[in-house]
Amino acid sequence: MINVENLVKTYPGKVPTLALKGVSLKIAEGELVALMGRSGSGKSTLLHQLGLLDLPTSGSVVINKLNVLSLSDAERTRFRLQHLGYVFQEYALIAEFTALENVYFPAMAFGDTSAKERAAHLLDLVGLQERMNHYPSEMSGGEQQRVAIARSLINNPKVLFADEPTANLDTVSSEVVFKLFQKLNKELKQTILVVTHEPEDKKYVDRVIWLKDGLMEKEE
Ligand code: ADP
Ligand code: MG
Repeated sequence: MINVENLVKTYPGKVPTLALKGVSLKIAEGELVALMGRSGSGKSTLLHQLGLLDLPTSGSVVINKLNVLSLSDAERTRFRLQHLGYVFQEYALIAEFTALENVYFPAMAFGDTSAKERAAHLLDLVGLQERMNHYPSEMSGGEQQRVAIARSLINNPKVLFADEPTANLDTVSSEVVFKLFQKLNKELKQTILVVTHEPEDKKYVDRVIWLKDGLMEKEE
């Protein structure tokens, strides 16, 4: 599903930062993979390059057999919105929208008329059928993150990327989120790449990729 070769990312600046020094990895369709490593090791940078939120300095990224770095800016943006899902540490929900509106909003760009129905189904899937018409401020952090996960799935993404989705959550809510990833992986065959710095989370995933100083250190 994802094939990365020799990925290099340098952030320009007075003193340029070499954040990725040549990372190669493969993720198969249907895998649930964790990305781990110390703070500053390049986890978010790698996720941004794979998720097409940023462009690498060199290297290649193939997603679903498509060389995504050869696309024009407009094509790449469309591919990202249509085929990739994201979950961030701080949920990033729209405060003025209900849970239901937050979930179907990303499908509206594609004139998708069944999005509202699917959004309701997704909120059911993440266990929030009772919270559909609540606003983010009326929900706990764990509930907001589950809304964000439902939102990330609205366009049936090829890959779901999550960057430290449980960093702001208590132990119980974190477990709910990781168990939800397991369920999405098993029931929907959803390919998921999740960044975490909690070694305990290893038990939820098929494989762990460790980064160290911008390089792949090991896999387990
Ligand atoms: P992690 O997510 O593992 O904590 P990051 O990918 O955020 O690591 O950061 C990797 C390195 O790149 C760090 O040295 C960080 O300071 C640097 N870095 C990250 N983002 C930027 C940026 N936008 N501009 C300059 N340097 C950055
Ligand atoms: Mg990070």
